[in-house]
Amino acid sequence: MHKILAAAVGISFLPGLALAQSLEDIAKAMGADRITTIEYAGTGDFHALGQSLQPGDRWPLFKMVEYKATINYGGDGAMIQRILVIQGEHPPRGGGRQPVKGKQSRSGAIAGEIGWSPSARPTPARETAPLIHALWTSPHGVIKAALAQKSPIVIKTVDGKEYKTVAFARKGAFSAIGWFDKTNVLRGVDARVANPVYGDMKVTSHYSDYKTVDGIAFPMRIRVIAEGQPLLDLRVSKITPNAPAEIKAPEGLRRPGHRVTMEEAAKGVWFVAGGSHNSVAIDHGDHVTVVEGPLNDGRSMAVIAAVKKTIPGKPIRFVVNSHHHFDHSGGLRGFVNEGATVVTHKINVSFYQQAYRAPRTVDPDLLATSRKTAKFVGIGDKHVMGAGDNALELHLLKGSTHNTGLIIGYMPAHKILIVADAYSGREHLSAPVAEPEHAATNLLENIARLKLDVAKVLPLHGAMMDFAQVRMAGGQAP
Ligand SMILES: [Zn+2]
Repeated sequence: MHKILAAAVGISFLPGLALAQSLEDIAKAMGADRITTIEYAGTGDFHALGQSLQPGDRWPLFKMVEYKATINYGGDGAMIQRILVIQGEHPPRGGGRQPVKGKQSRSGAIAGEIGWSPSARPTPARETAPLIHALWTSPHGVIKAALAQKSPIVIKTVDGKEYKTVAFARKGAFSAIGWFDKTNVLRGVDARVANPVYGDMKVTSHYSDYKTVDGIAFPMRIRVIAEGQPLLDLRVSKITPNAPAEIKAPEGLRRPGHRVTMEEAAKGVWFVAGGSHNSVAIDHGDHVTVVEGPLNDGRSMAVIAAVKKTIPGKPIRFVVNSHHHFDHSGGLRGFVNEGATVVTHKINVSFYQQAYRAPRTVDPDLLATSRKTAKFVGIGDKHVMGAGDNALELHLLKGSTHNTGLIIGYMPAHKILIVADAYSGREHLSAPVAEPEHAATNLLENIARLKLDVAKVLPLHGAMMDFAQVRMAGGQAP
């Protein structure tokens, strides 16, 4: 108790001294002063953020059969998270690359500001904030970050219990408060993590079941909650303090989302590709409609610039959102900033409106700065945009287990289908798939129900394809 009082008094009168002593006490109690690297491994639950069946539903569950984190607190910090998951939702429900056949990697790495997926062919991370957050809110990362930032200790009382709290942040990635109990053990971290949809996304980490190994205190259970939904529940089985951890970003990694290619699919209809996610730009006479605003502001700015160059002098008045999964909706705000109205299934409208009202202080995007109000058109089973040869029909895919509000685009005059996730043009098939996935058969059922006459497919992942490819993906003869 006297330590807490000393700290409290110290903040008022001798901030530097009290701060140094108290954070040193915490570092000693947790063993943070004796490690520069750590490795910890375990198993548990992993959830795919932003990939729920519909807004408000849980993040889909995957079972982690292997989790290993390797952290180096030196320099700007570095971390590799190696995660192997198996299917957790039975039957499959939501996105995040379901169903998992066998095991799937969800690994990620960060070194300073550079993030990537560690695999045989490393690819740049779409977002670096989640990994920077994971690194610096790891049990000893909190102390290292607070010490580096000379964070003052503030005493807070919750439910009659006193805690020492420290605030710390990484510009553009997160801001956080670490909570230590009176024995100087870290109990949790409240953070705001930069997210293209949520803005300052609320993420809380809980640390419990502490064990001490070679004088290093470490929680055997780590639970992370994002916007009220479970994200991670890790049961740690092995800790290796000061493990070898030389983590370097691969040479020549580029930030994703800035390469844009324009391919004319029909007169005035452009397939906008070049990255992991595609868009489609349609000339609607006095304005342009863009289907899909994926990823983030960076991608949107690049796509908007390319569309303006290809179809000059016409405003982008509408952006169609195929479904609310964050990799497909993270760039919508960039289009709103450009003056576009968002056309999405009606189940998503209130979700976006609420998310867009949240503060964006950690990594303000263009819309946060311009303060324009987002406008939405919430559609039902069918909606038509434009007229003539470039008329675009939007249809709800009924019975999708990927997303309840998944919509496809259809252009009758060109026999063009625009589709996200239910079909992706990533591989060229030469024969029907023997065991087609539900997403593919469900897409074919919907096309048959709607009597759509499709020749060409513009998938929002992968390459432009003939419809025969979709038939084969769904197990039918080409
Ligand atoms: Zn999806």
